[in-house]
Amino acid sequence: MEQLPNTAAHSLEAKAWEMYERLLALHGHQPNIPRREPMHELISTILSHRTTGHNEDLAYERMLQRFGSWEAIRDAPVDELAAAIAPANYAEQKAPRIKEVLRRIIAEQGAANVDFLRDMPLDQAMAWLTALPGVGPKTASLVLLFCFARPVLPVDTHVHRVSQRVGLIGPKVDATAAHPLLLALFPADPQVLYNFHINTLRHGQRICVWGTPRCQQCPLPTICNWYQANRAPR
Ligand code: SF4
Repeated sequence: MEQLPNTAAHSLEAKAWEMYERLLALHGHQPNIPRREPMHELISTILSHRTTGHNEDLAYERMLQRFGSWEAIRDAPVDELAAAIAPANYAEQKAPRIKEVLRRIIAEQGAANVDFLRDMPLDQAMAWLTALPGVGPKTASLVLLFCFARPVLPVDTHVHRVSQRVGLIGPKVDATAAHPLLLALFPADPQVLYNFHINTLRHGQRICVWGTPRCQQCPLPTICNWYQANRAPR
């Protein structure tokens, strides 16, 4: 029997692409050029959880200044490492996780190096990263997309909120569950996924902010569920 096209999925993809194009026009093209070497990106992203970018950088710099090498951080007393990364929130939880991540990587690879993720099959690379303590789909996707241009989509709090308000994901879908749902709406093109991630994140920081969104500055009202339900003239 001939299969009917899944029109709901089609219309959601079309909506996602429309959102992509409008945010691209507003925030611009974002070249996917690695900003940090992979170990830096991995450990910094663990430090970044519920922490500002400024304090994440401060914690990372203090940690390296205090201990000097990945091996020394792995071997550091956990309370001393927690003190060094104290600018980051939840330092007491992050310190033992960072030590264990380094212990596993160095034991498995012979050095603090995750460059093998560039060529590992993508599902295996995601599974390997998310098996590390303190590494969820956001951190794993971020390392794979930012450092190795692998076609995955990190969903942080801003990408999650904006995508939910527009209606690309349902109101009860949490950020973890949103990863495969949003990824499925886009072509497996790292540059497209990078543009969507960065531009949606910026949109969430500047316009579709937490609390009261600034819809009057936004190019998305005609395709936004939240706007149509809450702000559109009746
Ligand atoms: S229209 Fe308003 S709620 Fe919708 S994405 Fe734009 S700022 Fe957010």
